[in-house]
Amino acid sequence: MAGRQRRVSIRSVNVTVEMAKDKAYKQLYSELVSWIRKATAKAEVTGALSHEEGAFEIHCEGRVIFSKLARHGFPVLNEVAQVVRCISESKPWEEITKINRAKCRCGHEDCMCGISIMVTKATCPCECDGECPGA
Ligand SMILES: [Zn+2]
Ligand SMILES: [Zn+2]
Repeated sequence: MAGRQRRVSIRSVNVTVEMAKDKAYKQLYSELVSWIRKATAKAEVTGALSHEEGAFEIHCEGRVIFSKLARHGFPVLNEVAQVVRCISESKPWEEITKINRAKCRCGHEDCMCGISIMVTKATCPCECDGECPGA
């Protein structure tokens, strides 16, 4: 009998991201989608507008992976992608509680300095209004 290879069975999973309506959130979302695609072949990612200001709420298979409204900051996108991968491989995972600190350290929870490679200082939704210190 031919040697059997141990394979990880990958199931398809649904990821939804409810986000605030600002353009920057949409850009961050598209970055997140590419991280998830790199990590998992079988993830279906859907974005939806949230009525809540500052929302960036990520669910997978109906469970919360990360909530910006609860954590007051953005996640590390690659960490989100790794959690989605764990779920698709039926491995244990936990909700992400760590937040990604903005490079400029202005302290605003909406600041995307250094968090998104696509969001520029001018479109960063943070209260510094394009004047983040040291960004
Ligand atoms: Zn900033
Ligand atoms: Zn700022």
